[in-house]
Amino acid sequence: MSQETIFDKIINKEIPAEIVHEDELCLAFKDISPQAPTHVLLIPKERIATLCDLKDEHKELMGHLMIKSTEIAQKLGLHENGYRLVANCKDDGCQSVNHIHFHILGGRAMTWPPG
Ligand code: AMP
Repeated sequence: MSQETIFDKIINKEIPAEIVHEDELCLAFKDISPQAPTHVLLIPKERIATLCDLKDEHKELMGHLMIKSTEIAQKLGLHENGYRLVANCKDDGCQSVNHIHFHILGGRAMTWPPG
């Protein structure tokens, strides 16, 4: 089992977050340090540290997250102009919280490639 992170505290409502979606499998909330006009984090409630830890048994959960990311982006008004969905992995990917999460970023034109 991976180490507890700040995201467990958000899931357990021990610290506040601006929640935009919650269901039995996942939670989405506003990033505390937004990098775009809209910046939401989508996390599974199950504690999985990194993308490298995904296994076949996570197939349904990860599919659920993808569909929810689409629905949340629509709810946030990002479907017309588009948005970016990002998952950082470990040190080289700039992951700072070891609980899988997707950044939903929108509301401005992004640049590519990322730094
Ligand atoms: P990453 O660097 O990909 O691991 O992303 C972690 C994200 O979590 C960063 O964008 C942080 O700003 C965000 N973050 C950390 N603590 C909190 C918090 N308490 N509430 C909301 N977002 C947070």
